Amino acid sequence: MPKKLEHIGIAVKDLDKAESLFSQLLQTQSYKREEVASEGVITSFFMLGDIKFELLAATNPESPIAKFIEKRGEGIHHLAFESENIEMELSERKDQQMQLIHEIPKDGADNKRIAFLHPKSTGGVLWELCEEKPKD
Ligand code: ZN
Repeated sequence: MPKKLEHIGIAVKDLDKAESLFSQLLQTQSYKREEVASEGVITSFFMLGDIKFELLAATNPESPIAKFIEKRGEGIHHLAFESENIEMELSERKDQQMQLIHEIPKDGADNKRIAFLHPKSTGGVLWELCEEKPKD
């Protein structure tokens, strides 16, 4: 079951420029930068109320973010919903005939396990499920 909107992912070309723009817009500073090497992205996080904004910039031309920007330009890339139990939710979504991009959750930024549903199944919205990893 989805619990709440956790964050909004925004694809950007230049992380430094986007950070200064979003700190103006949101009137708060980025609280963390984190690279996810497996996805070819570097992220920067802002928090407004209890919603996070995840700026995503490509670190190489093969990155899914580089390809997204090539096709669609900068802008909203995905919505991420916190899941009670990501494995269970993935199998429910599969039963609902939704197309999964990841059958098995993988490590994402911000201490999360994540998986995406294909926009074909979700009204054109790239839909992320995320679940906080237990802290060790
Ligand atoms: Zn995300």
